[in-house]
Amino acid sequence: MMKELLLIPGPTPVSDDVLYALSQPVISHTSVEFANLLKEILVYVKELFGVKNGFPFVITGSGTLGMEIALTNILKDNDNLLVLSHGYFGDRFEELAKHLGIEVNKIKPNPGEHVDLELFRKTLKEKHYTAVTLTHVDTSTGVLADVESISKIIQEVSPETLFVVDGVCATGGVKEEFDNWKIDVILTGSQKALATPPGLTLLAFSERAIEKRKSIKPRTYYGDILKWMVVMEDGTKYFATPSVNLFFALHQSLKGIFDIGLENYFKKHEDLARRVRNAMSEIGLTLVAKRPAPTLSVFLYPDGVEDKTFRGKLKEKGVIVANTLAELYGKGFRIGHMGSVTKDELIVAVSKIAETFEELGVKVNKGNVLNAFLS
Ligand SMILES: *Cc1c(COP(=O)(O)O)cnc(C)c1O
Repeated sequence: MMKELLLIPGPTPVSDDVLYALSQPVISHTSVEFANLLKEILVYVKELFGVKNGFPFVITGSGTLGMEIALTNILKDNDNLLVLSHGYFGDRFEELAKHLGIEVNKIKPNPGEHVDLELFRKTLKEKHYTAVTLTHVDTSTGVLADVESISKIIQEVSPETLFVVDGVCATGGVKEEFDNWKIDVILTGSQKALATPPGLTLLAFSERAIEKRKSIKPRTYYGDILKWMVVMEDGTKYFATPSVNLFFALHQSLKGIFDIGLENYFKKHEDLARRVRNAMSEIGLTLVAKRPAPTLSVFLYPDGVEDKTFRGKLKEKGVIVANTLAELYGKGFRIGHMGSVTKDELIVAVSKIAETFEELGVKVNKGNVLNAFLS
């Protein structure tokens, strides 16, 4: 099988040592070995999210399960939610809350724009919200949310409102400060910047989010955070069988990240993002996000380039990028530069992208594009 360069914004490529960890013999999910592995993973998880006072969790299921766990454990009937949406994944909180019968209001700027902070302040003053959700990086537009500023406004206007942050396309690739930003629930998935196969959701709950859970009857059984808390505190306890091998893989990947150093891992993401954007700007592509994320970029096509043709030709050259979603469908492409992806791999991708545009009639100076990436 030809090894394709998988540059969609998740799942991201997984390194050989992580794949090897995944292929270890299965062990008992209540063994002391598993409990020790989980304990080490949870130390890493706290570090990733910036948690000092809070409870970490790793639960089998995708990022969307993490979103559902977040809302079902802190919201009850008649509670209301304010969704701050920078795109498709922000909107998912609205859909989820409506599904649960929770009243939702949403602030959603045009694609690529950041939520207006004064509008947010005004909206928060208008009525009491039980919780606010924010997507740290919306994978549909590539917008990096200003979590700190949003948090400050919540603290000033409505400090009792719970703050939920979706870190699925952010955690590991960009700094998160659970305690300092007064986050109540943060969640992520294994398959994006954490460079682990899909299938695990990582979360942290604040003390008061746990208290809120204790005061309600959650509309979830598998996702009940109190049931999982027992397992997180003692991995030899049973609630529901974790995907043991994915935990091996996650442990290996997190060990690799912390061996490099988390700060260095963030820097690597910033560096690769800058290089990719410089190169694409040389081709003449425009970035959708005004406040772009270090983990992925979303570019609009120049006039006359058809999405399926572009991505099809690029795939023939071994490079996979993703289509744009929702309002931006067909108008551009999304490229991930997160996780284990290297500069060497990205220069190959950038070169193939330049060639593909050239074949489609876009005037490209490939030398300049490569120089822009390298400088
Ligand atoms: C990918 C993603 C999700 C959904 O995660 P799944 O693992 O596909 O369920 C949610 N939020 C964001 C920001 C994402 O990028």
